[in-house]
Amino acid sequence: MERTLSIVKPDGVKKNLIGEVIKRFEQRGLRIAALKVLKLSKDDAKGFYIVHKERPFYESLTSFMSEGPIVVMVVEGKNTIKKVREIMGATNPKDAVPGTIRSDFASDIEHNIVHGSDSKESASYEIPFFFSSLEIQ
Ligand code: UDP
Ligand code: MG
Repeated sequence: MERTLSIVKPDGVKKNLIGEVIKRFEQRGLRIAALKVLKLSKDDAKGFYIVHKERPFYESLTSFMSEGPIVVMVVEGKNTIKKVREIMGATNPKDAVPGTIRSDFASDIEHNIVHGSDSKESASYEIPFFFSSLEIQ
């Protein structure tokens, strides 16, 4: 079993896609082990995306991620990190395979509806960023 951190980003919440994202994970046999709605401050978003601090999109991304409520969740199952990334689709919706969340719903490379950890290492930073062990069941 493997765990990953997924987020329905502010654009996904605004577009009423919380249920749609969860449904796609569950339909692939993945389980939601923790879930909550919250709003990041700009500093929270900067901390979460600290790996991207040198990237040209860091300022804009962290403003976007703190502009409205998000849903954070721990997703659990076999090969969850890879499966969630497949269900999400490529970062840029123009490159995403039809039938993926980003292909179906994202408006551009920044406003791309959903986040998923890209490795075991990032999952082990991102999950405790939002959840204590008591909150993961
Ligand atoms: N992003 C952006 N411009 C880019 C690349 C990424 O605005 O050129 C945003 C986008 O919201 C993306 C996030 O920054 O989801 C994190 O980038 P990453 O390369 O980690 O993509 P992901 O892992 O989310 O597919
Ligand atoms: Mg990433």
